[in-house]
This record gives sequence, C-alpha cells and structure tokens, in this order.
Amino acid sequence: MSKGTPSMGKRQKSTHLRCRRCGRHSYHKSKGVCASCGYGATSKMRKYSWNKRTHRSKN
Ligand SMILES: [Zn+2]
Repeated sequence: MSKGTPSMGKRQKSTHLRCRRCGRHSYHKSKGVCASCGYGATSKMRKYSWNKRTHRSKN
C-alpha cells in the first residue's frame, strides 16, 4: 500500500442515485430508471416472486 488510497480513483462518477420510490441506491442517473423498483420505466413496482425480500419497506 502506498500513501493515499489507490481505490479512491474508482468512486468519482456515480451511476446510481437514491431512488425516490424505493429509497434504494439503484436509480440510474443517465437512464432515469431504477434497477430495483423500475421507477422511470414502469408505473408498477418491479417485483419478482423469486425475489423473497423485495421491498419490505423503505430501507
Ligand atoms: Zn427504486
């Protein structure tokens, strides 16, 4: 390890923002679509039965 953190260069640009519908950090900045709940793409919630822990509550 050198002085400073080499991995600091990895987190300059943020692709995802906090989604205002599901509250998760899955809202894609440029796409305008939430990867978690589908906000921006669909008016319904993006949910799958195989995903057991989908959106219990915010956070
Ligand atoms: Zn969302």
